[in-house]
Parts: sequence; C-alpha cells; structure tokens
Amino acid sequence: MSETCQGCQGQRVTAHTTVAVELDDQGNQVSKTREYTAPCGTCHGNGTVD
Ligand SMILES: [Zn+2]
Repeated sequence: MSETCQGCQGQRVTAHTTVAVELDDQGNQVSKTREYTAPCGTCHGNGTVD
C-alpha cells in the first residue's frame, strides 16, 4: 500500500540548498547560498512510499 511521501508531501520534488564559494570584486572568498528544487530523496521522485 502506497502512502503520500512525508518528505515532499507528495510534491515529488523538494527544496535543496547548496553553498558555493565565489570571489567578490576584491578577490575575497564569499559563500553564497543557492536554492534549487530536485527530486525528493525519500521517495526518489515518486511522490509516494510503500
Ligand atoms: Zn518524497
């Protein structure tokens, strides 16, 4: 019996964040956080779990 995935609430994708280190105008390292959506890791994009 399949149930709605609690990890993504059945949306199949979840928000992820990643931190990238970039250089500013002065050549200093700054970390920037980026958000993106990717297939849910809990249900592997199915939206449901057994
Ligand atoms: Zn899921």
